[in-house]
Amino acid sequence: MRNDRDVADVSELLQVGSGVDLGAIDPAGTPGLPDRKAVRRDPKGWARAELVMLGAELARQQEMLFANAKVNPADQRRVLLVLQAMDCGGKDGTVKKVAGTMNPEGLRITAFGPPTAEERRHDFLWRIRRALPLPGYLGIFNRSHYEDVLVVRVRELVPPRVWKPRYEMINTFERELVDSGFSLVKVMLHISYDEQRRRLLERLRDPTKYWKYNPDDVDNRAYWPAYQQAYQDVLRRCGTDHAPWHVVPADRKWYRDWAVAHLILDALKRLDLSYPPAAFDPKSETKRLEREETGSAAKMNDR
Ligand code: AMP
Ligand code: MG
Repeated sequence: MRNDRDVADVSELLQVGSGVDLGAIDPAGTPGLPDRKAVRRDPKGWARAELVMLGAELARQQEMLFANAKVNPADQRRVLLVLQAMDCGGKDGTVKKVAGTMNPEGLRITAFGPPTAEERRHDFLWRIRRALPLPGYLGIFNRSHYEDVLVVRVRELVPPRVWKPRYEMINTFERELVDSGFSLVKVMLHISYDEQRRRLLERLRDPTKYWKYNPDDVDNRAYWPAYQQAYQDVLRRCGTDHAPWHVVPADRKWYRDWAVAHLILDALKRLDLSYPPAAFDPKSETKRLEREETGSAAKMNDR
């Protein structure tokens, strides 16, 4: 279907490691976009058209994942997309555009806000564990356990002695997930300070977007450098071989959607999925059905 020749390995390009310098990554960049005339002429049009094709392949892969878990209860494989971003970073838009290509029945999407009274009575991973996808499902976390070392750290919701050990706790937790059949796709949507301002203004100008506006977001802008530092620490300390982090430049929405679709597709392709074979003999089943039909037709004629 797709022409893969000149599309670089997007996952590899966007993966970051322990030495990452977030400030050096351009939020308006488009890494991995093929360098072709047709793409250069209309990158947005090209990426949007590509997303349609990627979406069809995503849906096919997702269906195979679901089918395998359904016929084989021992198959524990599942995929979890962890989406993190600053306010207005595009998490909701990404869910809509990328998850929107797949079968809703096989998705488990969870958005995490401030913990409820009940959630606060448990450790920070409690609500996360409860939202994990079952085998065969593609889970999407719109915010995640990482908020507990991001907003919680920056806004000093708990003292450092509480949040500091969490990086290691998260690494242990994610190791456990990978060992029990999860493929983790961790994505930070990286927007610029100016782009966040533009998006906030857009929300204030458009009455159909008021519901997305939160006055706290303006207060949070004062903490931008502290958030960037906290994000960089997350990327450096929790980017592991089994669960690496990816930074997706997200000022351009069409690039963001294209890149995230690639990342999920790569994770699914690494599972090397196929449709499960029949646990019955399709030929003799067809015969049986035909016999059954001629039998009941004869009965109908007798009436
Ligand atoms: P939104 O994603 O715009 O619906 O906003 C959700 C809000 O919940 C954000 O302001 C997050 O910072 C906040 N939030 C998410 N997880 C936590 C957490 N563990 N502790 C405190 N605030 C959180
Ligand atoms: Mg918000």
